[in-house]
Amino acid sequence: MRTRQSLALARYASTNTMEKFRVLVIGGGSGGLTVANQIYNRFKAAGRPLNPGDVVVLDAANYHYYQVSRTNNSLMTLVGAGLRPKTDFKRPLASLFPPHIMHIAENVKSFYPETSSVTTTSGRTISYDSLVVAAASLACRRLSPDPSSGVSSIYSYDTCDKVWHDVDALRSGNAIFTQPAGIIKCPGAPQKIMWMAWDNYHKSGRGNNINIEFMNGMPTMFSVKKYSDALNALRIERGIGAEFQHNLVSIDAANKKATFKKADGSTVDRDFTLLHVTPPMGPLDFIKGTSIADPTGWVEVDQATLRHVKPEFGNIFALGDCSSLPTSKTAAAITSQAPVLTENLFSVMDTGKVSSAKYDGYTSCPLFTGYGELMLAEFKYGFEPKESFANYLGDQTKRKRLFYHFGKDLFPWAYWNRMLHGKWFGPSGPFRPKFV
Ligand SMILES: Cc1cc2nc3c(=O)[nH]c(=O)nc-3n(C[C@H](O)[C@H](O)[C@H](O)COP(=O)(O)OP(=O)(O)OC[C@H]3O[C@@H](n4cnc5c(N)ncnc54)[C@H](O)[C@@H]3O)c2cc1C
Repeated sequence: MRTRQSLALARYASTNTMEKFRVLVIGGGSGGLTVANQIYNRFKAAGRPLNPGDVVVLDAANYHYYQVSRTNNSLMTLVGAGLRPKTDFKRPLASLFPPHIMHIAENVKSFYPETSSVTTTSGRTISYDSLVVAAASLACRRLSPDPSSGVSSIYSYDTCDKVWHDVDALRSGNAIFTQPAGIIKCPGAPQKIMWMAWDNYHKSGRGNNINIEFMNGMPTMFSVKKYSDALNALRIERGIGAEFQHNLVSIDAANKKATFKKADGSTVDRDFTLLHVTPPMGPLDFIKGTSIADPTGWVEVDQATLRHVKPEFGNIFALGDCSSLPTSKTAAAITSQAPVLTENLFSVMDTGKVSSAKYDGYTSCPLFTGYGELMLAEFKYGFEPKESFANYLGDQTKRKRLFYHFGKDLFPWAYWNRMLHGKWFGPSGPFRPKFV
């Protein structure tokens, strides 16, 4: 018997002279899968279900990674900290599509927003009524695969288990953790792995033999002052050294020397025994320089409606890491962005106008500070805290075991079982927010 998806594919094949879809989503990552399902569900809830295959996701990747990007196979803090096997975080992309969402396993090469179409890497032209861009960002530094280099990164699927190996094997010396200047995915992750290493060393009696240093390209521990102050106090209390506005520029793996550029342009070297690297990141080349991108290369959308800022591209939306939204690039942010985007896309397709749904910049960062404790940073535009649990559990700068289990157990479960199915809505959890 033919499945609904094969029927949709057959329908597509028989009409592919048109190569046109109602909603085309670029990228089958956290944002793309979440929003494709929410859009389908929204039309259904309005009593106007879309046909199987009306919503299409373009993405040539073989695998979907939790907290990772295709381009660098980015990592996971939990693997780097030895808490989960890395296979928990990788699934075949094709297995994640429900029958009613069509997957075309090709990448976009070029955008033609003037004609509401894209071309793919195989040369196909595909047009759409509405376009959603959810194609992430790029981390560009490639790390040495040499197992004796002492260099690793949770930002690479290939090396995230080496992080745990290196951290656990270290008996003495200098352990340096870096964070680059500029925009990165989950800006808390570079220090999460440092806190876990610190806890490991102290619990195993090696703390006095290992110097930990946080070499940070940014001016403070964290972008939100409240959390930054709490983290800096913890750093001092734990005897962890730090330099700010020190940006890693080169690694001499053979001589175990790392070079950092300071704010005044001068450089400083550090000897390392272990070096944990967070690579610099930026917009993807196939978006940069196009008419849908802002001057820096992010898809230029309105920060409240997530609709493209150019009126002539009013059928284009973006969310997640590739968007220009001025908030932290996290999957948590996507859980709040997706329902707003969905509501506005639905309204534009229905009435030509956006709805009242507005994104407030909500994002969150579960800051693991040790085994069994986590500081749950939640904030919105303007780096203003927006804490979901403060009324019940108190100030969220207080590190809690409950939050640790949210980060280690609940969030990964909710990701695979709710979010990617379009059934997780940020701070409102499983309840779709109502927009009036
Ligand atoms: C180490 C690490 C730790 C993190 N920790 C957290 C955390 O604790 N909490 C949290 O909320 N977030 C965390 N994040 C961030 C979170 O994973 C990302 O913000 C989120 O996955 C971004 O989703 P996205 O859909 O924008 O991109 P992705 O999930 O990366 O998906 C992008 C998709 O686009 C596809 N694509 C790329 N180019 C093309 C093309 N030309 N055509 C078609 N498709 C294309 C890719 O194949 C990919 O499938 C972490 C990230 C990292 C790396």
